[in-house]
Amino acid sequence: MEPQRSPLLEVRGNIQLKRPPVKAPSRLPLPGTRFKRGPDQMEDALEPEKKRTRGLDTVTKIATSRPRAPALTTVPQTQGQTTAPKVPKKTGPRCSTAVATALKNQKPGPAAPAQKPGAAAPVLGGRKPTKRPAWDLKGQLCDLNAELKCCRERTQTLDQENQQLQDQLREAQQQAKSLGAECRTLEGELARAQAQAEQGQQELGNLRARVLELEEQLGTQQGLVQELQKEQLGLQEERRGLAARLEEQERRLQASEAALSGSQAEVASLRQEATTQAALLVEQGERLHGLEMERRRLHNQLQELKGNIRVFCRVRPVLPGEPTPPPGFLLFPSGPGGPSDPPTRLSLSRSDERRGTLSGAPAPPTRHDFSFDRVFPPGSGQDEVFEEIAMLVQSALDGYPVCIFAYGQTGSGKTFTMEGGPGGDPQVEGLIPRALRHLFSVAQELGSQGWTYSFVASYVEIYNETVRDLLATGTRKGQGGECEIRRAGPGSEELTVTNARYVPVSCEKEVEALLHLAHQNRAVARTAQNERSSRSHSVFQLQISGEHAGRGLQCGAPLSLVDLAGSERLDPGLTLGPGERERLRETQAINSSLSTLGLVIMALSNKESHVPYRNSKLTYLLQNSLGGSAKMLMFVNISPLEENVSESLNSLRFASKVNQCVIGTAQANRK
Ligand code: ADP
Ligand code: MG
Repeated sequence: MEPQRSPLLEVRGNIQLKRPPVKAPSRLPLPGTRFKRGPDQMEDALEPEKKRTRGLDTVTKIATSRPRAPALTTVPQTQGQTTAPKVPKKTGPRCSTAVATALKNQKPGPAAPAQKPGAAAPVLGGRKPTKRPAWDLKGQLCDLNAELKCCRERTQTLDQENQQLQDQLREAQQQAKSLGAECRTLEGELARAQAQAEQGQQELGNLRARVLELEEQLGTQQGLVQELQKEQLGLQEERRGLAARLEEQERRLQASEAALSGSQAEVASLRQEATTQAALLVEQGERLHGLEMERRRLHNQLQELKGNIRVFCRVRPVLPGEPTPPPGFLLFPSGPGGPSDPPTRLSLSRSDERRGTLSGAPAPPTRHDFSFDRVFPPGSGQDEVFEEIAMLVQSALDGYPVCIFAYGQTGSGKTFTMEGGPGGDPQVEGLIPRALRHLFSVAQELGSQGWTYSFVASYVEIYNETVRDLLATGTRKGQGGECEIRRAGPGSEELTVTNARYVPVSCEKEVEALLHLAHQNRAVARTAQNERSSRSHSVFQLQISGEHAGRGLQCGAPLSLVDLAGSERLDPGLTLGPGERERLRETQAINSSLSTLGLVIMALSNKESHVPYRNSKLTYLLQNSLGGSAKMLMFVNISPLEENVSESLNSLRFASKVNQCVIGTAQANRK
């Protein structure tokens, strides 16, 4: 049977178990274990401590609450008292009962039941208790005192133990307190660790996402790398090809360089040559210019030798339906050079029925011979006529005013000569379109020598001493009388027609359009007044301006092409009705202007101080195209018909007078 342990010993045992210092767990968890230990585990880890503390507490309580052990049980039993009676567990009361019994026994009365033999007396002071006789009250008292003393000692000892236990308890409580504080600290740490763990988790999640992203990128990059590798292979291949080509090119380059050095030498020599050529070119240019000037001078001289006033006679063919003139009526005797010479003479026969011979036979026809600069018989074409005047027209480009008239009776072919025949047939094109085409082409040629030309055209009609614009458009079409001839500016030699259109022209087409417009304007006028076109002078003027910028030269001159009004006279024996009176006025106006033209030419020829330009609108308008520096050509147009012989003779006489005139040496209008 296990001996009963003293509670004190038990407490001591516990205290001793607890005594060894509890190794406090490190406040900072060891690396690697920090996040592995959960709160429960922490609790478990702390549990034994708590349990221990609790256990101690319980033990202490037990130790304190348990009734004191009877002093007697701890008193060592005396040797030999093997048969000692069973000691009752509660010694205290028993002890006091014994004292009471002893005291009771001191009284006289019935004796207390004797102690059973064999009952052991209490062992005191290690002495062998002696059995006191019942009467030995003193001895018994002495024993009781001894026992009391023993009990007191025992009590003292227990008090001390109690004190010790109390101390131990306080210490344990202190320890529990500190452990509680430590626990709270650890709980705080735990909370922080948990927060850190959560943050860690979150970071981990982020990192995982990042890792995934990076893995994806890596995949893409790897794909790219593969593609690049493929491309690299391709490029390497290409590079090899290019290297081969480069080599080839380098070979070629070397060859080219060799050729280049050869070429450079050649270029150097060519440059040398070019410099020489350029110098030569400048020299040639100078020479060319000199030659051009010389050409102009000689050209002019030639024109002057031909005469500044020239007269060409043109006889139109007999038109269908017209009576054939008698043979020998018009003759064109050949010149001194024979038939190969261009004709310059014309002979007209006129039979005068009133004159008779003595024998009564009709008088032979009178021959009238005329000589002009050139005579064009009926078969002469427009081109042939123009050929003769082309050089004269060119003088206008050289700066000499040129004026060409067509003079003759109505129906003699003036308009045909100037503007051309009907139908727009190029073969019958007149002088105006041909002259302008020629001028445009020569101006272009002179362009290569540094000359630039501009042309401005105007076309007016002078009827009964009123000026009308033939290029008028719109509402002004066909209207006349509102135009006046004025000087271009104060002190200016140049004349201009107010309200008339001056149209810049540079090509044939534009000239054609202008002639067409003039034709339309005349047609409008014809409806208003019959036959007006043949009763008026048509003046086409082209103002030519040339400039040689390189040499600072300028030249300008007008080219005037005039289709004069019919020169026929009225029959003096004609009875004058209202229509005829009008016709007479017209005729007088025409005759006046034509005779003024003759007078002007005469005055110029005779170098008179006064030239009557102002006597007619025509001469006034043409004054810059006549006179000193001007060149004049008059076509005298003749009808081939015998019935017109009188008018033909008049025209030929007028033209002969003009032909006898020589206008002074022409001077180019150069600036
Ligand atoms: P004018 O203008 O002098 O009145 P035109 O030029 O109108 O005369 O000529 C009168 C007619 O004679 C016109 O039908 C014209 O076609 C014609 N004619 C004039 N000259 C020639 C010519 N050289 N060749 C052919 N027909 C001509
Ligand atoms: Mg006419």
